[in-house]
Amino acid sequence: MTTKNVSKILTPPPAHFVGDGFRVHNFIPSEMNMQRMNPFVMMDYNSKHYFSPSNTPRGVGVHPHKGFETVTIAYKGSVAHHDSSGNSGVINEGDVQWMTAGSGVLHKEYHEEEFSKAGGDFQMVQLWVNLSAKDKKSKPKYQAITHEQIAKVNLPENKGVVEVIAGEYENVKGTAFTFSPIHLLNARISKGANVPFTFPENYNTALLVIEGGVKINNTENASVNQFVLFKNEGEAFNIEATEDSIVLVLSGEPINEPIAARGPFVMNTNEELSQAIQEFNLGKFGYLED
Ligand code: MN
Repeated sequence: MTTKNVSKILTPPPAHFVGDGFRVHNFIPSEMNMQRMNPFVMMDYNSKHYFSPSNTPRGVGVHPHKGFETVTIAYKGSVAHHDSSGNSGVINEGDVQWMTAGSGVLHKEYHEEEFSKAGGDFQMVQLWVNLSAKDKKSKPKYQAITHEQIAKVNLPENKGVVEVIAGEYENVKGTAFTFSPIHLLNARISKGANVPFTFPENYNTALLVIEGGVKINNTENASVNQFVLFKNEGEAFNIEATEDSIVLVLSGEPINEPIAARGPFVMNTNEELSQAIQEFNLGKFGYLED
């Protein structure tokens, strides 16, 4: 097996607010085009940020999504969400919410009420996972995955755990259903742990250091909040924790289709984009109270 080398290490771009509840660094597509990490076509990273107590929950009001899935991974804090197909829930620390927007949905996301009142550190990742043309027509659905439900691989010598959110690690299958082959792993590892990963050469692969710091392939150091993009060459790499760390590892088979994206719509052609906007304007995504 040949080594998968680092292509580049990105420091987080300046943060901006999404609504008033999410202070995010956009790695995808600000730092690379949407095909580079396809099927991961968007990544907003709310690095650890303290929100003061508020009786009015901060967040994002009603907005549409169509043509992809939103995956929210909560590291600190809690988010409540509702959508126009009648689903709602709370994403707590350690949980993952996997929403298939598919054919179109209205959505809102706010800090959970008690968290909002108490205030506290907030840290989350939101990924948009692209769907192939046929799967863009899927009915909206949710996978609410609690921290307990996530499949886990314990590392030797109590060096930590790899949570298998989706895909596979060391023959343990991930918890989430995905439409196309994706590996989404959360490594919570102790200082000194050296953890191997293997993915097909053509899969687009990256990692994000959520906490701590790691040395990759015994050569390159990545520190907290840095995004490491791998080359599409070779299959295997390893990360060594230089301190106690949490690392989000993502790898997926590219969906070999054109991407036409605008705001919260990710389609294949400009014509489909116009249609999506028209459907939204005509109220075809249902109704959701603000
Ligand atoms: Mn949303």
